[in-house]
Amino acid sequence: MGSEVRTERVLKGIAASPGVAWGKVHLFLPQEIEIPDTPVAAEESSAEIERFEESLMVTRQQVVKLQHEVAQRLGEDEARIFDAHLLVLEDRALIEETVREIQNTGRNVAFSFNRVVQRYIDAFANIDDEYLRERSNDIRDVSRRMLHNLMGKAHYGLGRLAEERVIVARDISPSDTANIEKGKVLAFITDAGSKTSHAVIMARSIQVPAVVGMRNCTRLLRPGDQVLVDGYDGLVVVNPGEETLFRYGKFQEEKRSLEKKILAQIGRSTTTRDGISLDLMANIEGPSEVDRLHRFGAEGVGLFRTEYLFMNAAEFPSEDEQFDAYRKVAEAIAPAPVTIRTLDLGGDKFPNSAYRADSETNPFLGLRAIRFCLEDTALFKTQLRAILRSSVYGNVRLMYPMISGAGELDRANGLLRDAMRELDGEGVDYDKAIRVGAMIEIPSAALTADILARKCDFFSIGSNDLIQYLLAIDRVNERIAHLYEPTHPAVLRMIGSVIEAGHRHNIRVSLCGEIAGDPVLVPLFVGLGIDELSISVSGLPAIKYLLRNLNHADMKELTGEVLELEDPKEIFARAESFYQKHLSHLIA
Ligand code: PEP
Ligand code: MG
Repeated sequence: MGSEVRTERVLKGIAASPGVAWGKVHLFLPQEIEIPDTPVAAEESSAEIERFEESLMVTRQQVVKLQHEVAQRLGEDEARIFDAHLLVLEDRALIEETVREIQNTGRNVAFSFNRVVQRYIDAFANIDDEYLRERSNDIRDVSRRMLHNLMGKAHYGLGRLAEERVIVARDISPSDTANIEKGKVLAFITDAGSKTSHAVIMARSIQVPAVVGMRNCTRLLRPGDQVLVDGYDGLVVVNPGEETLFRYGKFQEEKRSLEKKILAQIGRSTTTRDGISLDLMANIEGPSEVDRLHRFGAEGVGLFRTEYLFMNAAEFPSEDEQFDAYRKVAEAIAPAPVTIRTLDLGGDKFPNSAYRADSETNPFLGLRAIRFCLEDTALFKTQLRAILRSSVYGNVRLMYPMISGAGELDRANGLLRDAMRELDGEGVDYDKAIRVGAMIEIPSAALTADILARKCDFFSIGSNDLIQYLLAIDRVNERIAHLYEPTHPAVLRMIGSVIEAGHRHNIRVSLCGEIAGDPVLVPLFVGLGIDELSISVSGLPAIKYLLRNLNHADMKELTGEVLELEDPKEIFARAESFYQKHLSHLIA
């Protein structure tokens, strides 16, 4: 037994949060709660319903308090995770179904609520989409809290750890992790989970490595076992030997030295070694992210995804509410620009309101983004007015998503002019020379970029969608994720041709899809002549460092070579070896 325990063993899971850590295991196995099943006489059912409503209120207060604490300790973004919990507690259908269940079956409230909520959990757990499937965990998490309250029991999370530990659990919910002390948790390992579970998002934000989807780690590992967690490759090394610790130690050292160099350059310009400057901008989803923009060296906001202001709201935000959000961002980043994208609802982004277009068979090809706005012109105009009003508080640019051709751009611009005329009539000030851009994310727009360039002031290539529509690969279907190839020659040619058309008409071209933040691919886009990259805030320092240490001419040469190739994998391999060659020199 003794020698078996000390043998080094490598277990494989899903890499969910990057980093390496090692230490002793803390097994976290919260008890399943036993739910009593007792009959309730008809005359007592209203008292039972009252108890249900009281518990909803108490649970709500607890979640709001927790959310507040998380906002203070971890940040606003992390706290937003609990919005999903509050939505469950306010869900009219769930509340009414529970009340009916109590009345119709004559069972106690905890039993009835559990029955109803299980139906919801099962429905979400069986959805094909990973993100939505993960939301069943939010419902499970908040319903556990509710059941504890109904039964007068305390809800235990991870709480305080006496010493630094690697947490091993079947699954971890945001409620479990809400009270943890930042320094005490070395890493997370879970049997269940996926990259999009909220606890994982939280782990990433507090920079704790995590490996999930291990299936049986809670059975294989015991409290006190030594483990090394490699959150880059999704590996857990049990009882790591000296050689393994040395290897990872060296790797950590290299990483730390690189990180130091990266951080030292945050405030500098994004200029290549041979003197070509680019704009390195941030993608954001709301005003809560503005604090991070300066800390991470953003040179502006290249994409403000405004639909997130609409998604969790019971009602669409009013003109004034939108104005406040846009103004906050504009003021915070001024004089640098903020590029406010008009609503991109539809596809996989639906608001929690009557606007949900769930009758569509192909929502990504449906009533999405600018199409939706051109149907609901009152809603669109409200947004345009709010953006225009915010434009006097900073350097605001406006951009339309999903433009498919000149007609749509003309109509959108027509409505923008109407909004301007209205404001003129009301004596409200706005930037008369506001720059207006089109997102190029549909092949028809890319192929008519020369026409569109005459009708707008800049382009922003939305490669997430451009690749999906060009290669016919549903961007959220994990079964074909391997076919989603940014290095497909068609993708590179199309991006290249849009840049060329933009430059021919003297307008700047930005790239704002996920690939713009991939350090292996970035040299290809710079080589194609991109003027601006817009990426997630946390990715900014590394990309800036990379570009400051590369020659524009080398990247151009690389791009020239790969454009001759036919195989996406070979193109990727070339880009990767270019990156490796330069990165190893950067670490040294
Ligand atoms: C894109 O499509 O690349 C893009 C940036 O927009 P979104 O991901 O919001 O669709
Ligand atoms: Mg898009």
